[in-house]
Amino acid sequence: MRNPRLYYRLSGKFSPLAPALMLVATGAAAVIGCLYSVISYFIPFVYLNFLLALGCGLAVGGAGYWTVRAGKVRNSLLAIVAGVVLGLIGLYASWSAWVLALSGWEVLILSPTTMIEVLKIMAADGVWSAFGGTPTGWVLYVIWTVEALMIVGGSTLLSLGGCLASPFCEKCDQWITQILPAPQFENNIHKEDCIAQLEAGNFDYLNSFKSTPSGELEGHVKVELLQCPTCQSNHFLNVKIVDISFDQKNQKQTKNTEVVQHLVLDTASFEKVRQILDAHARAASTALPSAIPPEARAA
Ligand SMILES: [Zn+2]
Repeated sequence: MRNPRLYYRLSGKFSPLAPALMLVATGAAAVIGCLYSVISYFIPFVYLNFLLALGCGLAVGGAGYWTVRAGKVRNSLLAIVAGVVLGLIGLYASWSAWVLALSGWEVLILSPTTMIEVLKIMAADGVWSAFGGTPTGWVLYVIWTVEALMIVGGSTLLSLGGCLASPFCEKCDQWITQILPAPQFENNIHKEDCIAQLEAGNFDYLNSFKSTPSGELEGHVKVELLQCPTCQSNHFLNVKIVDISFDQKNQKQTKNTEVVQHLVLDTASFEKVRQILDAHARAASTALPSAIPPEARAA
């Protein structure tokens, strides 16, 4: 059980530029929604349309992510609202473009109430066919709901992700993305024990970690030290377990489990953790087999 008071907390603030950036993102979401529908209209394959809807959600979400990062939004509720609004605009634009294409580029519907009436008529008769059938009624509503969830859900998740991806230095008015280099460690830690030790400020616990050169193939523990590159006085610690597996096609699958994320460190704790990680790095480099050439070691 984590103690939330020991971790980075969002200030709730945002840049005065954020509303202007949101306007730009709104335009981008509308264009992405239109493009998605027009491409789907001309290439009516169900599987491809599914991928296109996913791509539309990711692209609109990209606009949301950009708004949150560039607009310095440190407010998760605002980030969620931005993601939902952009997703709905992208979805509505896709519907308008779809009806426009379907009507031979003659009918442009801007009113949501008119759009709902048109959708009801389209749902009664069906608008496209696949696998030898034309979905109508509730089947079509389910398909539309899935499409809406992919676009609005994707947009919301990415916008919120932008807000939570890294801590923010209020003094220097910037996101803290600088991560100090550290070796990777064997994945044999006990998660709850690790949380308890680090939250209690017992950073000597990190001395028990064993560095591993083969972690990229076998999974490993990653320790990340973050600090504000400008004031160098805002420090955070991340520990994550990286599980690596290979699927039937021998494709590498990576799964990250956060053990601690953005644990606040005072300057003394930061220096201590840095010394421990440096000592691990030195030990790891001297433990490399002598057959490895020096230039590869340096890399
Ligand atoms: Zn700073």
